[in-house]
Amino acid sequence: MAGTVEQGQTSGNGTSSPNPQGPQAEFEVFNPATGQVIAKVPDMSAEQVAELARKARAAQPGWEAMGFEGRGRILLRCQKWLLDNAERVIETIVSETGKTWEDAQLAEISYGANAFGFWAKNAEKYLADERVKSASVILKGKKLILRYKPLGVVGVIGPWNYPLTNSFGDCIPALAAGNCVILKPSEVTPLTSLLMGEMLTECGMPADVYQVATGLGPTGAALIDQVDFIMFTGSTATGKKIMAKAAETLTPVSLELGGKDPMIVLSDADVERAANTAVYAGMMNGGQTCISIERVYVEAPVYDEFVAKVTEKAKALRQGVPAGPGSVDIGAVTFPKQMEIIEGHVNDALAKGARAVVGGKRGAGPGDFFEPTVLVDVDHSMECMTEETFGPTLPIMKVADEDEAVRLANESPYGLSGSVFSKDVARGEAVARRVESGAICVNDALMNYSALELPMGGAKASGLGSRHGAHGIQKYCQHQAILVSSLHLKRDVHTFPYNKRTTQGLMKLFRLLWGRGKRD
Ligand code: NDP
Repeated sequence: MAGTVEQGQTSGNGTSSPNPQGPQAEFEVFNPATGQVIAKVPDMSAEQVAELARKARAAQPGWEAMGFEGRGRILLRCQKWLLDNAERVIETIVSETGKTWEDAQLAEISYGANAFGFWAKNAEKYLADERVKSASVILKGKKLILRYKPLGVVGVIGPWNYPLTNSFGDCIPALAAGNCVILKPSEVTPLTSLLMGEMLTECGMPADVYQVATGLGPTGAALIDQVDFIMFTGSTATGKKIMAKAAETLTPVSLELGGKDPMIVLSDADVERAANTAVYAGMMNGGQTCISIERVYVEAPVYDEFVAKVTEKAKALRQGVPAGPGSVDIGAVTFPKQMEIIEGHVNDALAKGARAVVGGKRGAGPGDFFEPTVLVDVDHSMECMTEETFGPTLPIMKVADEDEAVRLANESPYGLSGSVFSKDVARGEAVARRVESGAICVNDALMNYSALELPMGGAKASGLGSRHGAHGIQKYCQHQAILVSSLHLKRDVHTFPYNKRTTQGLMKLFRLLWGRGKRD
């Protein structure tokens, strides 16, 4: 556990500062698996956020001046630190999320360690000046450059489901590009972000380059007013508020939002692999993964076999308070309010005729648990098939053929990710290309998130922009188009004073350049 951050105390890279208005407001952080309070952290005011931004602006030129090599060296030290201190980081993540040890190790430590190395190695390549050639004859002899200049101060607002991967993870490319970052973690899970501040300080990051604005929603809203870019991960509803607020200051945003990812199991699928993947990708991290499998469509010939396998595998899952490696398969529901959503979706389905072949209700307390749940006899009149559940639930629907599966998969406002299972990989890929989503897997699920070379972003209501790949770091930069003229006349012919002969001559030139050739 990261420990209590007391009033006026500075943790890691400038986490909090004394409040001149009086005692620092605080909020409690709970372990959702035990219900115990594990820390108190500052609830930062708009003035405190503004102060963080002032410090970040003062620190940014020095950080940028360190260059890719200087910044990369610190990121690589962090990579090693993360592995050297993996147990402590995992314990912190587990304590504030209630997730299993394995979920923290596999989807957070491995992501962070990989990302530090990836951005340290690739930031310079993605942000190198690009020489551009123009087809325009009037630009001959002029040097054209696309340059990526760090924006200055980036605000990252993150959710509670992956405090390292989805909150802190987006800070890494922003920092690698030469920006200072202020991270507003979810009020539910601020401790990992604070621990990352300690790591960066120990690894030599200058003061105020990375700061954490702990607080509730209003702290996040205050951050939007102070920064040059907002990287937001969270629900679609909050994403809309973020975009509206950012519009007031014309602050650019990147939004990674909710999803309702479909899995399509075709009749020629490897049913054993499909069932294993459905249970894992639907329920790992307690189903609290943006790209988790949220609904399954199975072609009729393999439906019974698939349901039988999923039922057997889901029944075998062990749920409880995580107590170290290998202790349980499914942990707690991290956010108490999420319990009501999960329970509401399951009850709605049951009331409309669905059957729970596994689970179907809350688990035993004192922490917040929902049993791993498999629902059958479901359809699109039920919330579990249309709204994001974000819990350990797997509704499975029988479909006549792939056309019906694709139609239903696309009958959603969301379009984050998804997967298609078929032993005929060409058929699987063809079906995958028909699914409206920012990412898609064939005979796999979730794994696309590990490909940092590929963009990861949502279609439709699942987001705007993307993380990872070239765009995942270029978005944190001003795209500056530079033209350098070194060979030129004293006066260019098209400039003042205008005269008839030159104007007519230029029109002849335009006709010569663009007026020839066949048209329809
Ligand atoms: P929320 O949208 O509730 O919150 C996300 C963050 O926004 C939190 O830090 C929250 O603070 C903050 N916030 C809330 N209101 C405001 C506001 N008005 N202005 C600024 N910031 C605000 O999401 P959850 O934390 O519940 O996360 C779950 C959601 O995240 C799911 O929908 C999931 O699909 C999505 N997600 C998407 C991912 C993707 O890559 N597309 C990845 C991971 C999750 P506070 O917690 O203090 O209220």
